[in-house]
Amino acid sequence: MTNKAKGSDKFAIINELARRRGFFWQSYEIYGGVGGFATYGPLGSKLKQNIEKKLRDLFVNRLGILEIESPIIAPSKVFEASGHVNHFKEPMVECLKCKKRFRADHLLQETGKISVWEIEKMSLKELKAAIEKHKIKCPECGSAFGEPKRFLTMFKTMIGPYSKAIGYGRPEAAQGIFVEFKRLYQIAREKLPFGVLQIGHALRNEISPRQGLIRLREFTIMDLEFFFDPEEPNCFLLKDIKKEKLRLLLSEDKLKGLEKITEVSVEEALSKGYIKAEWQAVFMVFAKRILVELGVPEKKQRFIEKLPWERAHYAIQSFDQEVFVERWGWVEVSGHAYRTDYDLKRHMEFSGEDMRVYKELENPREKEKLTIRPVMAKLGPDFKSEAAKVSEMITKANPEELERSLNKKGFYMLGKYKIVPEHVEILRQKILERGKHFIPHVVEPSFGSDRLVYVTLEYAYRIKEDRALLSFPRDVAPIQLGVYPLVNKDGLPEKALEVHKMLVEEGFRVEYDDSGSIGRRYARSDEVGIPLGITVDYESLKNDTVTIRDRDSWKQVRSQIKELPDLLNKFFQWKINFEDLGIPFDN
Ligand code: AMP
Repeated sequence: MTNKAKGSDKFAIINELARRRGFFWQSYEIYGGVGGFATYGPLGSKLKQNIEKKLRDLFVNRLGILEIESPIIAPSKVFEASGHVNHFKEPMVECLKCKKRFRADHLLQETGKISVWEIEKMSLKELKAAIEKHKIKCPECGSAFGEPKRFLTMFKTMIGPYSKAIGYGRPEAAQGIFVEFKRLYQIAREKLPFGVLQIGHALRNEISPRQGLIRLREFTIMDLEFFFDPEEPNCFLLKDIKKEKLRLLLSEDKLKGLEKITEVSVEEALSKGYIKAEWQAVFMVFAKRILVELGVPEKKQRFIEKLPWERAHYAIQSFDQEVFVERWGWVEVSGHAYRTDYDLKRHMEFSGEDMRVYKELENPREKEKLTIRPVMAKLGPDFKSEAAKVSEMITKANPEELERSLNKKGFYMLGKYKIVPEHVEILRQKILERGKHFIPHVVEPSFGSDRLVYVTLEYAYRIKEDRALLSFPRDVAPIQLGVYPLVNKDGLPEKALEVHKMLVEEGFRVEYDDSGSIGRRYARSDEVGIPLGITVDYESLKNDTVTIRDRDSWKQVRSQIKELPDLLNKFFQWKINFEDLGIPFDN
C-alpha cells in the first residue's frame, strides 16, 4: 500500500453502505468490535462467493486446475520448513506512554516522505532513526515510541492438550498444497504441468489493522500453485495471449525513484526478461482480466515488481497486482511469485519424504556416477562401537558434498563424526541415464477475496441524481433480479409472486419486494446493486407481459413473461444487452 491519498472519503461511504445494507461490518460489535475481523451479511457473502466463483470457473472449470481444501491449523514443523517461523515477521513499535503498538513501516509510509521499497530495506536501527528523524509520534496519544521489534504475525496455538505440540494458523493456503504434493501429483496422473487451487481462510495476526476489508486478521485467500518442469517451462496458453498488454512498474525504475509504468505485451515482457517465467506472465494476464471483469479499468491497475529485499523469502521474482483505491492509494489485490522449487525442497529436507518426480529422458545419456563406500577396516579402530552407525551414515550422505569437503578441507563432518579420506573409498562408474529425478518449479498467483470484494464495491459505486447506486458487473451482483408488483392490490401481488416463483425455479437469484412506493423500491434495489427490476403492472394482467428496468440507465423495456427465462439467461451470460430484452417502454 503506498501514498495514502487524502481528500476523498469513498472508503467511509462504502463501509457505511456496507454496514447499513448488510454487505459486511466489523465483527463482535456487541463487545465493542475487534479490529481486523469482519462478518459478511447476506449480500456481502453472496458477492464474495460470486467473485470466488469467477476464479473457480476460470481456473478449475476451464483450465482443469485441481481444487483442494486442507486444514487451517498446521503443526509447527510445516511452518518451520516453509520458512514462515523465521521470516513471517513485521516491524513493530510500542508507544512508551499508552502502550499501543503499530507497524513501524506503515507509520513511515504514511508520512509520504519515503518510498515503500526504501522502508522495506531498513534494519530495526534504521527504522528507529527514520521515526525519530520524521518526528513520528503515537497516533493515539502523541507520545514517543520505544525500540522497534520484529513481531511474528502467525497465530500460535497448541494441538490437543500438549503444550509442546505447537501449531500455527496458516498465513497462506499454499503450504496445505505443498505438503500434499506427492498425493496430488498422483491424482494429476503423474504429469507436469498441473496446478492446484485452494480457497480458504488464512490467519495473520496483523499488528494494527485499520483498513476494513483490506487488512484483516482472518481473511480468505485463493492460492494457486502451478507446478512445472523447469526444463520445459513453455506455456501452451501463451500463443493466445502473447499480444496482450501488461502495465508493469519494474524494479529497475523503482530503484531510480521513478513511478514509471512500462506498458508491454506479454511477448515483450518475456523476451526482455521483465517476467522470468511464461506461466507467471500468463497468470498475470488472467489476474488483470479478472479485475477488469470486476469493474476495475486497466488504467487503474498495475503490476509492481518487488525488489529482492521486499520479496517473500521463497520467491526469486514477484509482482504485486495493485489497484488504485481512493483512500489508500495503490493496494495489492494479488501476488504473483515465482517460488521455484523452494517449498518442495524444504519439505523434502524437513520431512525426509522424497518430493521429486521422475521423467524419462528422450535420449538416454551416459553419466558418471559417484559412489562412496565406507572402509570398515579403518572405521572400526577409529569409531569402535559406533563404527557401524558411522558406516551407515556414510552410505546415506551426499557423495558429491562429501568428496568436495574431503578435497577442500581434508575432512567431512557427519554430525559429530569427523570423516577423513582413509575412512572411505571413492568409486566412479559410467552408467546409462535413462531418466532423472527432479523437483518441479512453482509459480503462484495468490488473490485475497476480501480485497476483491472491497475494490468491486468501490468501483461499482456511483452517484446518479443524488442517489447511490452499485453498478456491479452482472455476473457478480449478489441479487440478479427484483420482482415488484406496481401496487399492492388488484391481483398484482399474486401475479408478481407467480413470476418470482418461476424465476427462482429457473435458478436466478431473485428478490420479491412489495413494501413502499415503487420509486423507493427501485432506489433501494439500485443501492444494493440489483441489475434488473421486473415490475408487474395492470397491463401484465391483460397480456402476460412485464416491464424490465435497467439499474444503470433506468430505462425500461416490456417483455412476455414466458420469454423471461431464456432472455435473462442470455443477459446474465453477457450474450445480449439490456436493449435486447424487450420493446422500449416509457411510463
Ligand atoms: P501475500 O501472500 O502477502 O502476497 O498475500 C496474498 C494476497 O492476500 C494479497 O494479494 C491480498 O489480496 C491478500 N491479503 C494479504 N494480507 C491480507 C490481509 N491482512 N487482509 C486481507 N487480505 C490480505
